[in-house]
Amino acid sequence: MKKTIAVIKGDGIGPEIVSEAVAVLAKIAAKFGHDFTFDERLVGGAAYDATGDCLPDETLAACKGADAVLLGAVGGPKWDALPGPKRPEKRALLTLRKELGLFANLRPAKVWPTLRDASPLKAQVVDDGIDLLVVRELTGGVYFGEHLRSADGQSALDKMPYSVPEIERIARVAFAAARTRRNRVTSVDKANVLETSRLWRETVQRIRNAEYPDVALDFMYVDNAAMQLVRAPSHFDVILTENMFGDILSDEASQVTGSIGMLPSASLRGDGFGMYEPIHGSAPDIAGKGVANPLATILSAAMMLRHSFGLEAEAGAIERAVASTLESGVLTPDLGGTAATHDVGVAVASRV
Ligand code: NAD
Repeated sequence: MKKTIAVIKGDGIGPEIVSEAVAVLAKIAAKFGHDFTFDERLVGGAAYDATGDCLPDETLAACKGADAVLLGAVGGPKWDALPGPKRPEKRALLTLRKELGLFANLRPAKVWPTLRDASPLKAQVVDDGIDLLVVRELTGGVYFGEHLRSADGQSALDKMPYSVPEIERIARVAFAAARTRRNRVTSVDKANVLETSRLWRETVQRIRNAEYPDVALDFMYVDNAAMQLVRAPSHFDVILTENMFGDILSDEASQVTGSIGMLPSASLRGDGFGMYEPIHGSAPDIAGKGVANPLATILSAAMMLRHSFGLEAEAGAIERAVASTLESGVLTPDLGGTAATHDVGVAVASRV
């Protein structure tokens, strides 16, 4: 298979962790006979320093022309003083998501057997099993609705629009994902208060009945879901939810696993194209020290192979190599070990 991957290392630890993920992808290409071209581009503070723009036009064009995007992380104290719209997170990340039409955000969160002590939850809760996938709608709802302030400055309004087609397409992503997992979707909303949630609920139920009758579906109010995530996370397989609820719940879900350096994500369009990145930021406190955990980025690369290229065996090969690396004790300091970023990358690549 011949694919072009736009590679954005970004800022802080970005270059260190992305280099390891690219090396693992190169190993996959060599072993399985694929032809991957890595098209490295500037985004974020690094791009601002070089061009005065955190998302240069040629980077956006390269991402649009690629088969998938692999991203490290952007931002850092050096660029914190830039005005809001010019800052790396706003200018680069939100614009990339919008311009690339990435409406579905997938964040798997699981506790790896060898890392069960990392979870802040009681061992008994962890041992019931934490292995869930948050499917968050990424381009609608209150973050993209109208934001208004009255002329006298004394009141404000944020609109939370959702349309049936927007709900249908994200529901299909969740149901399709559930079929590859434990076949269960929990749709999270606030239908006791919000009209958008009532539309959400009706639409999700209709899509399930018409197209995915084999997938189990239940509904949960978002306040209850926030509680159940720490009380009984084993209840969840796929959590389907709108933009703001998903923002909050996916961060909560990531924390119950206890290891921010382990969590990958995918942001997808409807046609298989996607952008893949670890959920953590650029970690300026450890940048340049060679101790950042590259596994979230390497696991993001595995998600790319699965979701954008349909290469399930290759994705599985990376995930097994990560599990084996963890078992062998080659761990970065965030996981209690002493290995360097590059040692972990080499350990994974050698096990592919
Ligand atoms: P952060 O995720 O960068 O760091 C939080 C803590 O986790 C730090 O102590 C860091 O050292 C640690 N950490 C993060 N990733 C790690 C890894 N792979 N290995 C080991 N330890 C790791 O969050 P922050 O400190 O709030 O943000 C730093 C910068 O990153 C800010 O400029 C922020 O805006 C930006 N940010 C970017 C993204 C993104 O690019 N998607 C996401 C979040 C934050």
